Amino acid sequence: MSNFVEPFSELGLSIQNTYAQLPDIFMTKMDPIPVKDPKVEIINYELAKELGLEFENIDRDALAQIFSGNKLPKNSTPLAQAYAGHQFGHFTMLGDGRALMMCEHLTPKNEIIDIQFKGSGRTPYSRGADGRAALGPMLREYLMSEALHHLGIPTTRSLAVVSTGEKILREVPMNGAILTRVASSHIRVGTFQYAAARNDKDALKKLLDYSVKRHFPEIKNETDNVLLFLRSVMEKQIDLIVNWMRVGFIHGVMNTDNSTISGETIDYGPCAFMNSYDINTVYSSIDLQGRYSYGNQPNIIHWNILRLAESLIGLIDEDEKKAVSIIEKKISDISSQISSKWLNMMLQKIGIEIAEPEDEQLVHDLLKWMQENKADFNNTFCYLMEHNHIKDKVFETDSFKLWKNNWTLRVKKEKNYLDKMKRVNPIFIPRNHLVENALDEADKGKIDKFNSLIKVINNPYSFQSKYEEYYLTPEIDETNYQTFCGT
Ligand code: AMP
Ligand code: MG
Repeated sequence: MSNFVEPFSELGLSIQNTYAQLPDIFMTKMDPIPVKDPKVEIINYELAKELGLEFENIDRDALAQIFSGNKLPKNSTPLAQAYAGHQFGHFTMLGDGRALMMCEHLTPKNEIIDIQFKGSGRTPYSRGADGRAALGPMLREYLMSEALHHLGIPTTRSLAVVSTGEKILREVPMNGAILTRVASSHIRVGTFQYAAARNDKDALKKLLDYSVKRHFPEIKNETDNVLLFLRSVMEKQIDLIVNWMRVGFIHGVMNTDNSTISGETIDYGPCAFMNSYDINTVYSSIDLQGRYSYGNQPNIIHWNILRLAESLIGLIDEDEKKAVSIIEKKISDISSQISSKWLNMMLQKIGIEIAEPEDEQLVHDLLKWMQENKADFNNTFCYLMEHNHIKDKVFETDSFKLWKNNWTLRVKKEKNYLDKMKRVNPIFIPRNHLVENALDEADKGKIDKFNSLIKVINNPYSFQSKYEEYYLTPEIDETNYQTFCGT
């Protein structure tokens, strides 16, 4: 169906089309809408290598044609996925309104991954919007997803950003762009909700079997694999959110269509890293109730997993009441799992491996102190790791010294606690003011700051004194800092 372009023969793609075999209701097969004048803004050569792709010998114009979707490989079946989702608690039928999966690719590790274009034009799911994306937000997704990856947090990744040579209309005209996103799949809680909402039990069962085979093959032959699937997703998602909490990451739009079955972070719209610790931090301009605030993320993942559970009821038992009771039993420990994984993570942040009864109080006292003193979240842990270059007066206060004395006595009982802390507490996170500045410049054609920031976030756990501007506590009032969805 698509144009064949020479470079694909050298690209190393091992094309698969497994999702395309699912029932038709899950997708619309179509090509991307070509763009005028694509130009490569950034290519992730390191990721390409990991995936077994070869770009080095392909010139940038050809790469621009490929990563804009203007030219497609011969055997690909591009498609937009259909799904539903609770957006800020309200259920809606959705779908890829501005994305198309170009193809799946079999990696050298024998894993199937999706290669998807974001910003590739209108689809039947665009709901009146233009199907396009702007350069700044696509570079932002590139940067933030790479940051999470290097922080050791499961995430979709970014292979390329090309500008399109076209303007898109927002409040002001903006430079258009397309991001190439790589994911272990794009199946969401909302994909299951979609099949359930259509009362299509056959499609729901096929989606389940497909998801199990792709993500949890170890449970494929188990008789209760619906329940095991639910539990596996629950565990992966709890681990993910606990990891976000560890580094002060606020996703910003945890709608059920943005919660994956794979447990990867997806959809980098209004996300940001918190500076000063405040459990209620919200940056998203549209999150007026604080539904997706930093501290509410564990509650929301609980809520989202319950929505996944509901969508599976039809596969458990004809008798709805019985099905609900079976499901409830299977995930009855969800709250306690969230709390204990969170506590464990916080203990690791302060160097404690095997908890003692008083340790929980030590964690809560520290968080209370941080909240009251507006201490920088990441740098508080850096300071405890003896990075005394973090010259922040807040650590000279009596209240902090008091806590630190108690903590010092406690960690004396731990072996190599500093080494352990260094593995979980980053020195470098993409600080909001640096991100905004780098994106502003990149949008004007100056990509240097963006590239420098990428370099720094690629190695977040090792201290390098020359990167002072990236690790110092910013002297910026972020009370009015705002981020935006879907621009
Ligand atoms: P998000 O908030 O990014 O998860 O998007 C929610 C839904 O809106 C998804 O189905 C998107 O595909 C769709 N969407 C967002 N921006 C656009 C756009 N510019 N054109 C068409 N659909 C969009
Ligand atoms: Mg989304």
